Amino acid sequence: MSTAAYPGKCFAVDIMLGKLAKWLRVLGFDAPSMPLDDRVRIDALLCEGIIPVTRREIFRDIEGVLFIRNDHQLDQLKELISSLSIGIDELRPFSRCSLCNAGLFQIPREAAFGAVPDYVLETASDFRMCPECSRVYWPGSHRQKMFDELESVTGWDLREGG
Ligand SMILES: [Zn+2]
Repeated sequence: MSTAAYPGKCFAVDIMLGKLAKWLRVLGFDAPSMPLDDRVRIDALLCEGIIPVTRREIFRDIEGVLFIRNDHQLDQLKELISSLSIGIDELRPFSRCSLCNAGLFQIPREAAFGAVPDYVLETASDFRMCPECSRVYWPGSHRQKMFDELESVTGWDLREGG
């Protein structure tokens, strides 16, 4: 995983907040999941400038830790965005694999053959692949549905092509 050129916020998301981590990756943030269960690890992350995101009460009052109060994944995302005053210019939607957290790279249409449905191969123009799990991403109805959900939470205009 290469994040050397990544200029955005880095998170370490507690394993208990897997769905929130996935949303952060969809938005393009570096957000690996890991068990955040000891203070040494929390302190090490803070030293590296990484924001630990957790619901564990024992870490609630540590400066720099983002303690999440909400139960629902999209409410949690909204809470995180407003707590950190994240702006739309910080987003790189669909630049990262939502499962692995790895940065996606663009592939030619021919390389997507067999990895996406035929109608997608014919109609989509932008294909990206995850270097870790080889999953192929493309603009489409699923992606638009996620954008719609994000817009309802954030008020951001994330329309495709924009
Ligand atoms: Zn992946």
